Amino acid sequence: GKGLNHMEKRIAICPGSFDPITKGHLDIIRRAANLFDEVIVLIMVNYTKTNTAFTAAERVEMARRVTADIPNVRVDYYAGLLADYARQQGACTLVKGLRAVTDFEYEFQMALTNKKLYPNLETLFLTTDIQYMYLSSSVVRQVASFGGDISEFVCPELLEDIQKRLAPAPGVLPNA
Ligand code: ADP
Repeated sequence: GKGLNHMEKRIAICPGSFDPITKGHLDIIRRAANLFDEVIVLIMVNYTKTNTAFTAAERVEMARRVTADIPNVRVDYYAGLLADYARQQGACTLVKGLRAVTDFEYEFQMALTNKKLYPNLETLFLTTDIQYMYLSSSVVRQVASFGGDISEFVCPELLEDIQKRLAPAPGVLPNA
C-alpha cells in the first residue's frame, strides 16, 4: 500500500460503540480534530456489547448531529476489523480516551492487537477531561432508563431522542 509521509493528510480514527455518544466522547473527538487534519468517528460492532440500545444507523445519525459544527470530522460505520478500515482509509492514528485505570488493561490489549494487525497504525491516548471522568454510555443508559436527568451527560440536541428511547413509560417504572 501507500506509505505515510508528512505530505499526506493526517487522518485519525476515534472508534467506539457510541451507544449513545456522550459529552465525554465529544470532548475527545474535538481534541483529536485539533491535532489531525481529519478525524473519522467510527461506529463499530463490539461483540461484547451486542445488545445496543440504539441501532447502528441511529448511532451514526446522532454522532453526525453533534459533530456537524466540526468541519474536519466525519462519521462512518464499519462492521469489520478496525485495522482493515484504517488501512483502507490511510489513517495513521487511533485516538482513544482514557478515563481510569479500569480502561487501561482493555485499551492496552486492543492497542497491541491493532499494532500487530497494522504496524503503521499508532494508538494515541488522550486523558479524559476530569469533568467527564465518570461518564460512559452505560451510565447514560442506566440513568435514563430510570427516568433520571441526563442533561449533564449528553448534548442538548440529543437529549429528547435519548430520553424517548430509554425512559420508562409513565406508570410502568420497573419497581411499580
Ligand atoms: P463507552 O466505554 O462509553 O461505551 P465506547 O466504547 O463508545 O464508550 O468508547 C469509545 C472511546 O471513547 C473509548 O476510547 C473510550 O475510552 C472513550 N470514552 C468514553 N467515554 C469517555 C469519557 N467520559 N472521557 C474520555 N473518553 C471516553
